[in-house]
Amino acid sequence: MQKNDVKNTEQPKEEKVVSVTYSRTNPFQAEILKTINLNKPGSNKETRHIELSLKGSGLTYVPGDCLGVFPENDPELIKTLLAEMKWDPTETVTINKKGETLPLGEALSTYFEITLLNKKIVQQAAQFTENADIQELILPENKDQLKEYMEGRDLIDLLREFGPWNASAQDIVSLLRKMPPRLYSIASSLNAHPDEVHLTIGAVRYEAHGRDRKGVCSVQCSERVGEGDTLPVFVQQNKHFFLPESLDTDIIMVGPGTGVAPFRSFIEERAVSQGEGKTWLFFGDQHEATDFLYQEEFEEYQNDGALSKLDVAFSRDTDKKVYVQHKMLDNSRELFAWLEAGAYFYVCGDKQYMAKDVHNALIDIVEKEGSMSREEAEEYVTAMQKEKRYQRDVY
Ligand SMILES: Cc1cc2nc3c(=O)[nH]c(=O)nc-3n(C[C@H](O)[C@H](O)[C@H](O)COP(=O)(O)OP(=O)(O)OC[C@H]3O[C@@H](n4cnc5c(N)ncnc54)[C@H](O)[C@@H]3O)c2cc1C
Repeated sequence: MQKNDVKNTEQPKEEKVVSVTYSRTNPFQAEILKTINLNKPGSNKETRHIELSLKGSGLTYVPGDCLGVFPENDPELIKTLLAEMKWDPTETVTINKKGETLPLGEALSTYFEITLLNKKIVQQAAQFTENADIQELILPENKDQLKEYMEGRDLIDLLREFGPWNASAQDIVSLLRKMPPRLYSIASSLNAHPDEVHLTIGAVRYEAHGRDRKGVCSVQCSERVGEGDTLPVFVQQNKHFFLPESLDTDIIMVGPGTGVAPFRSFIEERAVSQGEGKTWLFFGDQHEATDFLYQEEFEEYQNDGALSKLDVAFSRDTDKKVYVQHKMLDNSRELFAWLEAGAYFYVCGDKQYMAKDVHNALIDIVEKEGSMSREEAEEYVTAMQKEKRYQRDVY
């Protein structure tokens, strides 16, 4: 049992004690209490603030933890797949090695991942068709082409492109991976919202190979579930991302876009617990008018002192793109003074670019304001990481 798996003891009418443990293997059906789009009309983005009820689950969490959500595939996609292959959704298929079965339609909805391809799927699918192109694609010398092919394509693309198929629905679903849950940084403090958990979910939508694509979980959360519906969830502890033990320790938080989620939780927690420690948030997104997530809440927290400093960067409001790392550099002297006074430094959000740029900006600041060599500044930042005063939750 994981540390976050908790026993919930209920006393039903017969007075028999029923003990339920909710976890990744037995997710809790959390009711959606509220779902709102945090972006304003005209935005290029859709970021959902979703409030879920944990009532009766016994689940608990601390700021920094994540919530796992088991999504369902888009019914439109399943309809297309069934039509393409002329499959019967009521046909029973075996879904795993244990021999468990489900009607095909349900298996495609809840059990299998159908939106991503991997090498194993393409290679094994090739045995069910005589199509020369797929036989060519799986040759060892074509591994780069195979990798390129898989990018941005899904099961429907594969089945459309390489038929005719000499395979049953069972043959094809046996190639598929079980749908993994998606993790989301928890955006609320349990002390501020007992029995609730809040999420900040950016809808993933893009076009690839001539088709509009939708992220399974994020778009389910934005388009296909509403208040009163439930989502299967579990709490995933995060041992590498947590508030300092002392309420008197200052914290600096860098969280552009959905990266702001855990920092809403941190600030709410600090507001409830009322320590002496100062809090400084760097937030960024595309446009101030439409993409300033949680603007009113943060401004209120600034007014009442729970948020000591708020610096924002909107990259598409000016000719010169301004990002959170630029705001850090603009405030380098004060930021270094906070670090010298023992502040914790947190980064959450985009792993590919943002986290690297912020990391480099941090070293720049230490180098400049601490009058250090590059090497000394890097050592300073590495020491912060070792002391757990520099924590990242990037994805
Ligand atoms: C620890 C952690 C915390 C997280 N916290 C949050 C959070 O607070 N909020 C949040 O919104 N997300 C968060 N995420 C990300 C989240 O888990 C999901 O990955 C995200 O919501 C996408 O899931 P999905 O099911 O909607 O998309 P999927 O169906 O999983 O599709 C996403 C995939 O689509 C592909 N893709 C995406 N864009 C393109 C493109 N332009 N071209 C080609 N292919 C593309 C990529 O392969 C990508 O992996 C977190 C992730 C981790 C690991």
